[in-house]
Amino acid sequence: MSTAGRADRVRSRMAAAGHEALLVSDLTNVRWITGFTGSNGWVVIDHEGLTLVTDGRYGVQAAQQLAAAGVVGEVLVGATTTDTQAHLAALCGRHDRVGFEAEHVSFAQHARWAAAFDTELSSAGGIVEAERRVKDADEIDAMARACRIADQALAEVAPRLGEGLTEAQVRNLLEVRMRELGATGPSYETIVASGPVNGALPHHRPTDRVITAGDLVIIDVGALVDGYHSDMTRTFVTGEPTAQQQELYEVVLAAQRAGVAAVAAGVSVKQLDGVCRGIITEAGFGDWFTHGTGHGVGLLIHEDPFVNRAGDAILQVGDVVTVEPGVYHGGFGGIRVEDLVVVTSEGCRVLTASPKDSLCPPSPPTI
Ligand code: ZN
Ligand code: ZN
Repeated sequence: MSTAGRADRVRSRMAAAGHEALLVSDLTNVRWITGFTGSNGWVVIDHEGLTLVTDGRYGVQAAQQLAAAGVVGEVLVGATTTDTQAHLAALCGRHDRVGFEAEHVSFAQHARWAAAFDTELSSAGGIVEAERRVKDADEIDAMARACRIADQALAEVAPRLGEGLTEAQVRNLLEVRMRELGATGPSYETIVASGPVNGALPHHRPTDRVITAGDLVIIDVGALVDGYHSDMTRTFVTGEPTAQQQELYEVVLAAQRAGVAAVAAGVSVKQLDGVCRGIITEAGFGDWFTHGTGHGVGLLIHEDPFVNRAGDAILQVGDVVTVEPGVYHGGFGGIRVEDLVVVTSEGCRVLTASPKDSLCPPSPPTI
C-alpha cells in the first residue's frame, strides 16, 4: 500500500530541485515508484501524474502491478523500441525541461533522446535514490523476514561445518534451505570463505575446498523476500580456536558491537566507519581491515548510504545499513561480523539475530 505515496515523495524532491518532470530509467527506481518488476520500462513523473512506458511483453503485468500497489498512473505500451521511444518523446515534449537520471543512462541513449525529444534534458541524478533510502514499514518488514530466514538457515547449517563439507556444499545447503523457508532465493551468492588462503579474500566465491579442522570460516548470507535483501556475516572456527584467532575475533567483535551501538540519526558515515576502524587500528590490525564498514540495503544489496571513510552521508531515520568490520591476511585467513540494522528515532534496531558471542559454530537446533 505504501508504494502509492512514493510518486508524491519524488515530486516534492523533484520540485525542490527545480525539475518540472522526471524521466526515470533505472529499473530499481521504476520498481520502487510503481511496483512494476518487468525488465523494460520507463516512468515519466510530472505534477499532473505518472506514466509507465513499456513494451508488449509487459502491458498486462504493468497494469496489474500498478493496481496492486495502489499506484494511480497510465500505462503506455509500445510494440517496438521506436514506439516506446515515441511515447517517451511525446510525454517529455510537454515540458520545456525534463530531468533524466544521468547515472543510469548511457551516452548513446542520451544522444538518441537529445536528437528525438523536443525538450531540454537536464541531469537529475539521485532524486529517487534519495527517497528510496528512507524505508517504510512494509520495506523494513520484508527485510526483517529475509533476516529471519537467513538466521534460521545458518542455525541449521553452521553446526555441520565440522563434517568435512566443501565451501560450495555449505553454500548449497544454505541457499536451498533459504528457499524452503520462503525466500525467493539468496540475496547474493552466499560467501563461504575458509582457511588461511580463501578466508583472506573478503568476497571469495565458494570453491571445492574441504573445510578442515582449525579453519576460520566466514559465512556471509542473505535472503531475498518480496524484492528486498538481507545481509549478515558470521565467522566460525572448526575445532578449538588458536589464541590468535580468538584475540582477533574479540577485536573484530568489539569493533562491530561499538559500530552498532554508534548507529543513530545524525551520525555521519565517516564517524561510524571511524568507530569500527579506530578499535581495529588501536589493536594493531588497521592494515588488515581492507574495506568500508558497511552499506545501505534495500531493493539492491548495495545501495546508499555507503558507510566508509570517503562518504559524506549522514544517517537518518529509515536508513537500513550493514555494520561489517573485518580483518583479512594471507596465511591467517579472515574474520568478519556483519549485522543489518535500521536507523530509528531511538538509535537503531538490529534486524539480524544469529548469535555472535563465540567463534564456535552453534549446536544443532533442537526442535
Ligand atoms: Zn554481507
Ligand atoms: Zn554487506
